[in-house]
Formats: sequence, C-alpha cells, structure tokens
Amino acid sequence: MSSSTETQITEWLASQRQPMIELLRDVVNIDSGSYNKPGVDAVGARFERHFAEYGIACFREPHDVSGDALHGSVAKPGSNEKPVLLMGHRDTVFPKGEVAHRPFSIEGSRAHGPGVADMKAGLVINVFVAAAFAKFGSAPCPIKLLITSDEEIGSPSSRPVIEREARAARAVYNSEPGRPTGNITTSRKGGVFMRFEIFGKAAHSGNNFGDGISAIGELAHKIVRIHALTDMAKGITLNVGLIAGGQSVNTTAPHAEGQIDLRYIDPADRATTLAAIEAIIATSTVPGTTAKLHINGEFLPLVQSESSKILFDAYRAAAKDAGLPKLDGEFAGGCADSGFTASVGTPTLCGLGPVGGNVHTAQEWLDLDSIVPRATALALAILRIPVD
Ligand SMILES: [Zn+2]
Repeated sequence: MSSSTETQITEWLASQRQPMIELLRDVVNIDSGSYNKPGVDAVGARFERHFAEYGIACFREPHDVSGDALHGSVAKPGSNEKPVLLMGHRDTVFPKGEVAHRPFSIEGSRAHGPGVADMKAGLVINVFVAAAFAKFGSAPCPIKLLITSDEEIGSPSSRPVIEREARAARAVYNSEPGRPTGNITTSRKGGVFMRFEIFGKAAHSGNNFGDGISAIGELAHKIVRIHALTDMAKGITLNVGLIAGGQSVNTTAPHAEGQIDLRYIDPADRATTLAAIEAIIATSTVPGTTAKLHINGEFLPLVQSESSKILFDAYRAAAKDAGLPKLDGEFAGGCADSGFTASVGTPTLCGLGPVGGNVHTAQEWLDLDSIVPRATALALAILRIPVD
C-alpha cells in the first residue's frame, strides 16, 4: 500500500473530528436499551443515513423482537476476497427516558451520555473508517460492517449473524471502548448467565410447620455451595446476584429462585463448572425440595490465538504511527461479542474504540481526543493487514 494512500486517509480522518462528534451526539441522543426495538432501529436508521451520504452499500437483516442487524460494505464490484469485519453493538443498558435527563454533553475533552463509550463512539469510528475507504477507494480487501442490536443482554438474536459473518471474514475488529489505560482488549472472560428455581411446599409455619418444605432454606444452602465453586487463581467466579422467594413471613416458602453469573477464562472450565452447578441443583439438603436450572444467555471467552497475536502486532504498529505509541493489549473480565468471533477461529481484536470508562453508569465518559487517533489506527491496520 502506498504511503500516499495512508497520508490521504490519515489527513481526511483528522479533518473529520467534528463530523464524528456530531454523529456521536445524534446516536447517543436516541434511547436504545436492548429491549427497545424502535429505539435500537432508530439508531440504525441514523447510521443508514451516514452510509447513504458516503455511498456505502447497506441492508437490514430484520428481527421480530430485537433491533434489526445492520450490514454495510465497501468492496470493489465482483470482489470475492475475504473481507475484514468491523463490528459493534448499538444497544445500551439504559432504560427509556435516560436521554431526556442526561443527553449528550461535552465537558472539556470528555463527552458524556448513555452509551457514549459503550459503544456508540466505536461505531462512529467504524463507519468513518469505512467512509474513508469508500471515498478514496483504497481498501486492500472488502470492508464489512456489522452493527448489532442486543449485546448487552448476551446477543440472543445477533449471535448467529455474528458467527456467520465472522466465519466469512479474514479478521474481526470489534470497537468496544478502549480501556481507561488507553490499551485495547486482547482477551476476555467467558460468562454464563443462569436462573435456578427451587420448589418446596407451603404450610402455615405456626399451625402445620411439620407439613412445610422451605424452598428458601434450600436456596440458602445452594447459594453457599455455588459461591464455593469460585476459584480466583483460575479466574473462575460465581455470583448469585439476584434472589427472590417466599409467600409470607408465616408460610414455609413454596418457591424461591436465584440468578447466577459464572465467569471463566479457560474454555475447558465452562463444562466442568456447569457440571458442578448442575450437581448442586440436583441435590437437595432440605428433604423434599426439587430444583431446576435454566441458562438465560452466555458469552464465550476471547482467547488470543497465534493469528490474533499477529493481528495485534500489526495493529500496535499502526497505532504507533497514528500517535498512540504506548498502546498495549489487555485482559478484561467483561464479556463481549468478540468471544463469539474468536471462537469460530477468526483472528479478533477488541476494545479498538475510542477510550472511555465508567460504562453502564451515569458517570460514563469518553475521551474525545482519542476519536481521531483510534479511527486512524484502525484504518492503517486495515491498510497493512497481514496477508495469509
Ligand atoms: Zn459494549
């Protein structure tokens, strides 16, 4: 790739700081919680407008319940080369009405607002990098964009789409927020989100105590045993983060339930830990109780493969030339869609978005000065993609 192409794209992205901030403001100012399909689709429509402005081909893959998957592509007609996939989600963890009381705002070099870092800024750099390639026609391979709709709830509708697109791609760049340190994410934990129910028997706890079977009593035993599966040295953690149950203070509880968040690093630990949880669910300490386990959703871990390591080295060199000399790879306990793409065997990098922090809270912030360097690093990394 000629250095004049690199200069052209670098200079153009540097001139787009303000338009990128304006697109960011527009998409942050639309409520798009994962269950809010109209809101998530409205964010998609704003990105479609951007695609139309830059002549980027796009289409929606509709979904009845979640927001539609939005696809974009920049490719020479008839190209059958393997594309790179620029990925991100446009849903947030925030409820309807959040934008009304804290819309997009700027204080010094930081922007605030729901989803500003996680991960609307990442989507903005993805679509501007695609615009640069559409404008200058210099991409070394087709560029595909995938903007998903339900990552914050475990990607139930997007996972098959993500896996399909990742299998067809030579590399995946996921623009989740850059780490507060300025690093990107090269590995992540996997997570399984479960709910368990316990069934006992109601009885008046004064008159007929002996007839009752306490589901809450059993819940307490199970929580202690589930938490005891935590192995900090191996990075396996168990958290029963929600519980509910019972009918009244003077009734033995006929029903109780809890929700479990399991996190792990080594893919092999998933099956062994799930088997241990299933055994706990199947064994009752309070005689007469029964229990059931449901898996609500899950993310696979992002494990750094040899080919992902090569992709990372190329990205780090590009980032250096984009003015980010100290950038390194980092491990994150949080899960993301990059675990799915790495698990189908496609080299994957995550956390390539602009730098931010305090995500999922009202204190979420985005470093505006990181927008142009992160966009430039991504564009240069694509221009210099290692050939297979
Ligand atoms: Zn995210």
